[in-house]
Amino acid sequence: MNVSDSERISTTLAGRGYEMTNDEAQADVVILNTCSVREKAEQKLYSRVGRIRHADRPKPIVGVMGCVAQLEGETLFSKIEGLDFVVGTQAVGRVADAIARTLSTDEAVVDLGSREVNYDWTVAENQRHSPYIAFLPIIEGCNKFCTYCIVPFARGRERSRSASEIVRQVLELRRNGVREVHLIGQNVNSYKPESESGLEQFEGKSAFSRLLRAVAATGIERVKFATSFPRDFNDDIVDVIESHDNVCNWVHLPVQSGSSRILAAMKRGHTIEKYLKKIDRIKSSTKDISLTTDIIVGFPGETEDDFQATIKMVEYCGFDSAYIFKYSPRPGTPAFEMADDVSPEEKTRRFIELENTQKRIQSNNLQRYLNKVLKVLVERPSTRTDGGLTGHSTCQKLVNFVGTTDMIGEIVDVRVTQIKTNSLFGVPV
Ligand code: SAH
Ligand code: SF4
Repeated sequence: MNVSDSERISTTLAGRGYEMTNDEAQADVVILNTCSVREKAEQKLYSRVGRIRHADRPKPIVGVMGCVAQLEGETLFSKIEGLDFVVGTQAVGRVADAIARTLSTDEAVVDLGSREVNYDWTVAENQRHSPYIAFLPIIEGCNKFCTYCIVPFARGRERSRSASEIVRQVLELRRNGVREVHLIGQNVNSYKPESESGLEQFEGKSAFSRLLRAVAATGIERVKFATSFPRDFNDDIVDVIESHDNVCNWVHLPVQSGSSRILAAMKRGHTIEKYLKKIDRIKSSTKDISLTTDIIVGFPGETEDDFQATIKMVEYCGFDSAYIFKYSPRPGTPAFEMADDVSPEEKTRRFIELENTQKRIQSNNLQRYLNKVLKVLVERPSTRTDGGLTGHSTCQKLVNFVGTTDMIGEIVDVRVTQIKTNSLFGVPV
């Protein structure tokens, strides 16, 4: 979501005549787009912002955007010396105004207001992170209030974008040569637009599965979606994957814990048995669906038994990859009031044990790709090998192989010859 926000920030600025540079020393304006999901991400802002200074030129204008901006607001001015403006998560469309105001007044500029009704979600072609892949937000914010999570406070309530607008955007991307769209949101399958206009003729048990069918019907070559919220994940989503060649065989379904007791304390809204039922449906699919997840270790009150239940669950699910996090107390969340009673050493121990378990299962699990041919959308030369290229498969595996530069931007059949922890190696066929 932050990458997508950054793409739209640079699109707005380019439209106002600004030029982007990756060389900080050349920049007249430096914008930090921030994350506050864990304390470490937030601390990065403070260590990073202190390093912004130009040796031989006046100080650039410095702005903070994203979740930390939204949560901290004006207080950031007392924490960050030389800060010029603070723009919140929904005010991204007004970043150029914030810069203009910074230039015309001596006062601190803050905009934490809501998104414009007619906010333009398009990203200019030259501001996308890839010429061939586009991120498309379909829903923003979150209403779930999991007890550990700051996102509902940083990004506000769930708001779904209009289906016809999303479909129109996909058609335009397709016309412009984009081969893969990622429908993104905190919880894409909670998608619930004010009106279903444009979706009436598509079947589906939920607005999200109807939208998925509508997007597939545009004929765009590949459709991926993330993140899915377990409680709202229904079988119909697997049906769409099975019945549409262009809907990719990858589901990211964050579980957080293998213990129903901890899931209840997290207010995830489902038990582990219910989660495993959904996993069974995904695993029994006619398509080989790659399954990935997020897990938190050391949530308040997590006992060794709870943790072992997570290990057991991971063994059962056989995830293709998992993002593992140590619980990080976020001020303002209900869990912040609970005693953070798993010691840092114990969190680290559980993190390492879970990571080692996941690595072992993952490398066994990934053996199923050996000698298989995967369709890889070639994104760029790989920096590691001479003549090496890199891209992702439909199942969102990073695949490296040696090929020719004219393959970049193409979908190439690659036979997997080697399995590494986080990537696959192969040869084009
Ligand atoms: N909406 C998604 C997750 C978005 S946040 C979902 O509900 O599944 C991305 C991940 O960050 C979460 O899945 C969780 O694993 C992790 N996370 C969020 N808050 C955290 C916290 N306070 N401490 C540690 N990890 C956290
Ligand atoms: Fe956070 Fe829960 Fe919302 Fe995911 S669903 S963003 S974890 S509150």
